[in-house]
Amino acid sequence: MLPGDTLCNVLYIDLGKKSYRIEKRPALFEAGIGGAGVAIRLLAEECPAGCDPFSPDNPVVFAVGPLTGLFPLASKTVAMFKSPLSGNLGESHCGGRSAVAIRLAGYGAMVIKGASETPIYLAVHGDKVYFRNAATLWGMDNLFTAGQIIRGREPSPGTRTIMRIGRAGEKMIPFAGVTTETYRHFGRLGLGAVFGSKKLKAVVVSGARSLPTKDVKEYRKIYEQIHKAAVESEVMRKYHDLGTAENVLPLNVIGGLPTRNLKDSRFEGAETMSGESFAGKYLGRRLACSHCPVGCIHIAALREPDEREAFFYKTSMICYDYEPIYALGTMLGISDPEGFLKLMHKVETTGLDVMSTGVVLAWATEALERGLITEETMGWLRLSWGDYKAYIEAVEKIVEQPNDFFKALAGGVEHASAIYGGSEFALSYGGNEMAGYHTGPAAHLGLLLGARHSHLDNAGYSVDQKIVMKKQTTPREIVDRIFEEEQWRQVLSSLVICFFARGIYTPEVVSETLGSAGFALSPDELSSIGKKIHFEKYAFKFREGFKLQEERLPGRIFETMSSAGRIDADFMKQAVEYAESVLGAAGAEESK
Ligand code: SF4
Repeated sequence: MLPGDTLCNVLYIDLGKKSYRIEKRPALFEAGIGGAGVAIRLLAEECPAGCDPFSPDNPVVFAVGPLTGLFPLASKTVAMFKSPLSGNLGESHCGGRSAVAIRLAGYGAMVIKGASETPIYLAVHGDKVYFRNAATLWGMDNLFTAGQIIRGREPSPGTRTIMRIGRAGEKMIPFAGVTTETYRHFGRLGLGAVFGSKKLKAVVVSGARSLPTKDVKEYRKIYEQIHKAAVESEVMRKYHDLGTAENVLPLNVIGGLPTRNLKDSRFEGAETMSGESFAGKYLGRRLACSHCPVGCIHIAALREPDEREAFFYKTSMICYDYEPIYALGTMLGISDPEGFLKLMHKVETTGLDVMSTGVVLAWATEALERGLITEETMGWLRLSWGDYKAYIEAVEKIVEQPNDFFKALAGGVEHASAIYGGSEFALSYGGNEMAGYHTGPAAHLGLLLGARHSHLDNAGYSVDQKIVMKKQTTPREIVDRIFEEEQWRQVLSSLVICFFARGIYTPEVVSETLGSAGFALSPDELSSIGKKIHFEKYAFKFREGFKLQEERLPGRIFETMSSAGRIDADFMKQAVEYAESVLGAAGAEESK
């Protein structure tokens, strides 16, 4: 690390005592680099074993990396906490301005502990922390309004980040997320609920520090190479043009697009719900996270007549991506793009995680269809595929929980199906609701084995397309590929590099860029660090009671044909047994 670099500063905040302190932790950053590598150590240090996720002792850790602010696309912040949804590792990544703001405020990581008795929000401006009263923001119907009010109160527009929760977080719904800069999210595993348990409405961060580099000339040279690769890359061009929504049509063609609670893997409405269709009819603007030349964030402009006045229209700006289109579109049988956008807007204003919400609603629709629940159970709400208006009503009921059924739904699909039955079609892995890929065995193994049960852990769907669909393969080969990918992604997440840039940040490029930031690490050393972080995450999961052998794969995935054909249950069993032996051996090695 370079002299004068404030990366090693960790800001510790106690919400109960309304106090804070800054500690220099160079050894922590030398060992873990930043991001995920540092966050998992801080989580293990600060979270007492067996801690209730809603206890004031559960820490919220934010960490960024040495390349943040220096190189393009090192734009993510890693959040770690004990998850109220899975009961073990909570990890979620978010872009927007969060990472650059934390780095330029003078920190590599922040640890927020304790709980306030009354609603507050934190304002971190450089080395000063303010505990602001948020009583008037608490309970506000619309998360966007709360953001607007904070924007008007705090300094540094354009460079600050505002991370905030909606009603879902306030009500501690275990799949509530945290929204930053209106359109980006720490969506998964319930960070919003942990904020809510601390009566923490928002965290604002701003700063304007300069960052040191080892050799300015060399730094500029590497910077230019990466910037050029990012703006000229064909893959990045696609992310810019259509965003991840470009995946809808290809996944539909290969039969990997989960539809109506994965009763099918092709959707007849894919054309109208495709990235091409949204870009052609609704695209209102594109945005980028700080220090990213790609700009893959797509915002639709939805113009609707305002019932209060004739010839009067309101325009809502609503972000969309592949995962929301899957979760609130194809999974619910919605082929009306405007209906989807209205539902998306509703979910966004409450602060629920879009993916979990879609999977929960899809399960509820099928449970009703099969007679496991009745319309009476649902308070006379009738959910049916494609009926976006009923789904909008259901989202409100998940937040408000007017009866036992919606209370159960608000606990996530694993929880609801444990009460009402239908676990064979409850699509969750390790307690986290499924991502949008039914490409073959690797997609599902990736979700089960990933440390945070996210498609972003190891991109199992890509393993399906690279090896499973092309040739005969073994359970062992798939698991090895998944773990190998997940271990390298730990390095990228420690540098907080956006995974869309993983083709640009090869091990050699990462090693060179780190040289500019004062870290001398070869590609081999980086690879061992990645492996270690992966096992440290698993060590935390095991410590908190996660047992791979007790986890289940939903029966539905074996019924519906995937892109790679029918998934074989024995094949999956062998893969899980092999994964257990790998993780067990690594755990034994770690504990020596
Ligand atoms: S590619 Fe997209 S998600 Fe990644 S940093 Fe850029 S704008 Fe953010």
